[in-house]
Amino acid sequence: MKSYAGPCVELRSVANGILEIIIDLKGESSNRFSAATLEDLGRALDAVPQDGSVRGLMLRSGKPDFLMGADVTEFIPFFKKSESEIETWVKKTHALFNRIEDLPFPTVTLINGFALGGGCEVSLTTAFRIAAVGAKIGLPETKLGIFPGWGGCVRLSRLIGPDNAIEWIASAKAYSPEEALKYRMIDAIVAADQLVASGIKLLEDAATGKLEWKSRQEIKKSPLIMSTIEATMTFEGSKSFVGAQAGPNYPAPLAAIEAIEKGAKSKREAALDFEAKGFARIAKTPQVTSLVGVFLADQTVKRASKKWLAQARPIKSASVIGAGIMGGGIAYQSASSKIPVIMKDIKTEALDLGMKEASKLLEKRVERGQLKASDFGTTLTRIRPTLALSEIKETTIVVEAVVENEKIKSQVLAEIEANVLPDTIITSNTSTISITKLANALKRPENFCGMHFFNPVHRMPLVEVIRGQKSSDVAIATAVAYASAMGKTPIVVGDCPGFLVNRVLFPYWGGFMNLVRDGVPFEKIDKVMEKWGWPMGPAYLLDVVGIDTGHHALEVMSQGFPDRMKYDYRTALDVQYEAKRYGQKNGKGFYDYTQDAKGKPVKAIGPEVHALLKPVITGASNVSGEVSDTEIIERMMLPMIFECVRCLEDKIVGTPAEVDLSMLYGLGFPAFRGGPLRYADSLGAEKLLELSRKYAKFGKLYEAPATIQQKKGFFE
Ligand code: NAD
Repeated sequence: MKSYAGPCVELRSVANGILEIIIDLKGESSNRFSAATLEDLGRALDAVPQDGSVRGLMLRSGKPDFLMGADVTEFIPFFKKSESEIETWVKKTHALFNRIEDLPFPTVTLINGFALGGGCEVSLTTAFRIAAVGAKIGLPETKLGIFPGWGGCVRLSRLIGPDNAIEWIASAKAYSPEEALKYRMIDAIVAADQLVASGIKLLEDAATGKLEWKSRQEIKKSPLIMSTIEATMTFEGSKSFVGAQAGPNYPAPLAAIEAIEKGAKSKREAALDFEAKGFARIAKTPQVTSLVGVFLADQTVKRASKKWLAQARPIKSASVIGAGIMGGGIAYQSASSKIPVIMKDIKTEALDLGMKEASKLLEKRVERGQLKASDFGTTLTRIRPTLALSEIKETTIVVEAVVENEKIKSQVLAEIEANVLPDTIITSNTSTISITKLANALKRPENFCGMHFFNPVHRMPLVEVIRGQKSSDVAIATAVAYASAMGKTPIVVGDCPGFLVNRVLFPYWGGFMNLVRDGVPFEKIDKVMEKWGWPMGPAYLLDVVGIDTGHHALEVMSQGFPDRMKYDYRTALDVQYEAKRYGQKNGKGFYDYTQDAKGKPVKAIGPEVHALLKPVITGASNVSGEVSDTEIIERMMLPMIFECVRCLEDKIVGTPAEVDLSMLYGLGFPAFRGGPLRYADSLGAEKLLELSRKYAKFGKLYEAPATIQQKKGFFE
């Protein structure tokens, strides 16, 4: 019998005075805590009889998952409010959740599927939690730059101990029921179809006094039980450990520890107040807008990929042509994702090396417990090395990954086409050659598109799917499907020199070469940009990519965009290239490289490099005095931002969200800054125009594109 039925929540009587609150957002595929859901939950609680007839209450979901967390789409406008308004809003939910915790009868949450963020937090209000096999429970808030602010810090620390709670919150991990049970975060694991029956049985036992429940609720309302020494050890220890892991740009995990610490000696209400204050403060940090933006961009891109899937050919198997760095990586990734793959090369040694690399990567996964030892062989045998092109015939999709040479690629692509079925999709992993041009080698250009993976393939999440002039939707959709099946994030982009990511990367390197020309030491630029958030500075990145590869690609870029990517001076890249200092691959580039005991490259400034670069320092007369860190950042980032905008204007990419995500997933752009366009929004058009005028003397790279001149933002 229904006692209350709202748009998101229902209250029903089950049997014998036992009620259930079912969260089930109408018209949605999953549950989220939006403002509307919270209000509806309040109304359902209002409808709970106060006459002493209720013996217990179950909180459960009407969806395949319990609750995915708060509705993140509401965050950005909401967090624009003042700190005190945010605090008041949080406290409103505290009051709501306290009502569940204060019910005068036993309560249990039944967790099926995901119980994340607010979903996990609401489950902490009940006396018991039962999870279904395969559930996932966790507090991922710190990934968004915030921390659990709906009582999660207070309740979890009292339930499983502050050390464990800090581990849960700082790791942002989703735990299996088995793990959650070990932490005593849940009380039982049952089969999904037994959840309701188990909930009723547990409430019966609690209602009849067989199971103690009041003390369980009391613990969560009391101060943490720990001595001053224990508290100091726990909080100081975890602050230094967690702080070091998160780094200065991600303050949320530390703020969570502080919130727990401040409320440690207090009862629930006061402890929750500390949590609310801390939450409001952290919600106002710029990192939150960026990280929430990244989350939303990721969702947008996933939705776009899903749309493509409807048109894709089902991927039964794949082939890679070329077993080098990229081909080998793609074959490994395919096999690890359970898609059988044929790896073809012209050299047996290349095939052997490709298999050895795949086997090494799989061994590492077994060592880390990510792959069962028994699955090692099965995965490896999904890669079939071959020298015979005829073997690729039956595959759904082929990725060409031979050397970066237009003539060779055209020839190889024609050979591939002659050896596959008429509807096989053929793709190229070229980094610079026009897909439209390569398609000229084919009889069925509609079945062809680009599929640009990033190195190392197993680690880099992005795949640019490049639409040539004649690429069909089916070809694009099948490439998107293959990339998605490999756990990658595909982004569909247009065909132009450098496609999206490299087109934007070279202007950034343009900024770098210009700074070196002005006498700024490359290692200083690296340091400043790494401090700004990049995983590696521009010089180090050039060494890792390969000076020869970079030099060749720059030639392509300078032909494509001579107005801003063709330099009328000898660059630092030219000098390194001419001196055959190819970077990490031959041990010398901007840095000199040696190997550590584990065989990992270690970089140091070599004795020759500054003398080598001296002749290219020809622009120093343009600069008065030392170049400040701020100027370095501006001169590096402005060309990148402007090229991103030009890519949008030229329709190389569809949305600002896709631009930002591509830079994050393809280049390692710092997530806490959101992406180049969100960063641009944070600076504002006025500032960008001012900087554009300031650096106009350095040429077209610094010329503000039309969208900036029209003072349009990208996300607001
Ligand atoms: P690589 O030199 O490591 O490997 C190329 C492989 O192709 C070699 O094993 C070679 O034997 C094989 N090969 C040559 N001709 C062949 C043929 N006719 N049939 C079959 N195999 C043949 O090169 P790589 O770094 O793996 O690059 C491959 C492609 O990926 C290039 O187009 C490159 O631009 C692109 N790419 C490279 C990177 C990177 O960082 N290395 C990143 C993105 C894209």
